[in-house]
Amino acid sequence: MQSGDGWTICDAGHRHWGLYGAAGLLLTDGDRVLLQHRAPWTHEGDTWGIPGGARDAHETAVQAALREASEEAGLSAEDIEPLGLFIADHGGWSYTTVAARPRRPIQPKAINAESVTIEWVPIAEVPELALHNGFAQAWPHLQDIPEPVLLVVGPDALSAELTAALEGDGIAVAQLPEGVGFGSLHRLLVQIREAPDSASAAKLAADGSAGWQTVLVLDQSQASQLHS
Ligand SMILES: [Zn+2]
Repeated sequence: MQSGDGWTICDAGHRHWGLYGAAGLLLTDGDRVLLQHRAPWTHEGDTWGIPGGARDAHETAVQAALREASEEAGLSAEDIEPLGLFIADHGGWSYTTVAARPRRPIQPKAINAESVTIEWVPIAEVPELALHNGFAQAWPHLQDIPEPVLLVVGPDALSAELTAALEGDGIAVAQLPEGVGFGSLHRLLVQIREAPDSASAAKLAADGSAGWQTVLVLDQSQASQLHS
């Protein structure tokens, strides 16, 4: 029994599993997505969705999604690059889809009784499947997944508190600098790289990194604008 286990009613009057909301992992390599064929006995059983479940009281959505992916598909957090969050907020309850890409080839396997199978499905074939209701509603917004964000920061630009917040919940898209692509996601997760001085931070950001979007933050006033 975990702290988030239980049913609750959202402001729209639906009954949902997860006292502190729920989260799931949408892993895509650009051509395929990792889907779970849910066991017939589960809520909305015999449908396809993503590995996920109730968040615990002190878990971020990313932590919950990675834990569920580990419990249900044997995935290791080290193999996964989280990119951003799509949040279905019902008022009083939310489901957060954590969009992510694999860092290396991943061979999933169903390892608990909640799944019939967990497998890579070509994106074009997803609409042909009987989808879990929550996933079916989110899926149209999840076709356009942006490249991950590398946050290059100058010395002392980030407080420990801000670093923890950005690593936990990412940056709301309204706070992102112009030009950063975010698809339909609500928050982008970031990898943070600190540079010893402003000049080297600027150089790191200018050089960029293939397959990444780069954001440069030189001082605390720029950094504080990232948080909301
Ligand atoms: Zn609801």
